[in-house]
Parts: sequence; structure tokens; C-alpha cells
Amino acid sequence: MRLLVLQFLMNKNHALSLTDIENYFDNSDRTTIYRTLKTFLKNGIAHQIDDGTGVTKYALCQDNCNCEIETDLHLHFHCTKCNETVCLTDYKIPKIKVPEGFVSENVNLVVKGVCDKCNA
Ligand SMILES: [Zn+2]
Ligand SMILES: [Zn+2]
Ligand SMILES: [Zn+2]
Repeated sequence: MRLLVLQFLMNKNHALSLTDIENYFDNSDRTTIYRTLKTFLKNGIAHQIDDGTGVTKYALCQDNCNCEIETDLHLHFHCTKCNETVCLTDYKIPKIKVPEGFVSENVNLVVKGVCDKCNA
């Protein structure tokens, strides 16, 4: 199952929700897929994205990604036309200053607009 989910995520060039994956594997149950995704997150194989739609999306990490703040976190782009969310892995999130005494653990930066496919 893990391998199947991994392959499915690899073949898609946009982030997927639990429901997207569940619908694709119609003979597998949601709990198994959810557990698989949790394992991927824990092992740094995938990361989760909050794109503001209220539905968590998942995408594979690049090789050597540790999901570390300041080095690995990249922008995400949410297209308001096709509703797809993609990783912009070449566009890293710059260091964001927070007030003294605050400790950043995660940064989520989603750009919204029209993707290249919809804009073509
Ligand atoms: Zn990562
Ligand atoms: Zn689009
Ligand atoms: Zn991403």
C-alpha cells in the first residue's frame, strides 16, 4: 500500500488531499491511507500543505529535504481556477523575522492566483 500511494503521489505534479488518494484507490480504506501519509510525514518523504481551502494536501518531498524551516520550506501556489495546489520547490521561503522571545517552528506560505496551465 505504501508503495502504491508513493507512486501515485510521484505521478501527480500537484498536491493531493486524503480524499483524492482515497478516490483513486477505491478498494482501500481511508484509515490505511491516512496512516500511510502520517508515516510519510514522519519519515520526511512527504509534507503537508495548508493551502487555505480547509483541506490538507500532501506532496512528496525532494531528495535531501528535512522540511527544515529556513532551508527546505518552499512556496506553494494555489490556482483559483483549477483548484490545484503545487509545490514551488525552487522558491524557498525566506527567513521570516519574529519578535524576540518567539520561536518559529513552521512557516506556511501560499500564493494564490492562476497557474501556468490555466493561464496558457
Ligand atoms: Zn520535506
Ligand atoms: Zn490552474
Ligand atoms: Zn511543497
